[in-house]
Amino acid sequence: MSTHKPSFVVDAMLGNLARKLRILGYDSKYESSIEDSDLIKIADKQRRIIVTKDENLSKNAEKVNVTTVLIRGNDEIEQIIQIAKKIGLSNFVLDTNSSRCVNCNGKIEAIDKIRIMEKVPLGIYERQEKFWVCNDCKKIYWEGTHLEKLQEFVQRLNHRLE
Ligand SMILES: [Zn+2]
Repeated sequence: MSTHKPSFVVDAMLGNLARKLRILGYDSKYESSIEDSDLIKIADKQRRIIVTKDENLSKNAEKVNVTTVLIRGNDEIEQIIQIAKKIGLSNFVLDTNSSRCVNCNGKIEAIDKIRIMEKVPLGIYERQEKFWVCNDCKKIYWEGTHLEKLQEFVQRLNHRLE
């Protein structure tokens, strides 16, 4: 695994994109309301790449040498391709063990089934074998739901990048 995986700070207008980046394992800060100047400060201090649809924000960030990806359009696959092309990513992997929490960007890690028994619906508990929990917000993940459905999304994405 690369230790140079880029991290992002995502503009308030692009919440869905932030969630996708987190699932793909990219540390992606996102707040639904944040001043442009604060966003640039965070990016600069924490060496994050700004992802935004706002041309002014993009210009202001580049003035202070903060790398910015200016997103165009609403198609999520297209948006991620724009990021990939700008910063040179060539292949995306959906690996739950390296995903970030879609809620809060925390790290998620595998957890023994027995430890979350009372925290998920019984049917889920009985059908699923693998569970993960967010270190920060404690959200519980399992394969059948959030993550498996995204495999097709990632395949389409990689196909478009070839
Ligand atoms: Zn979380």
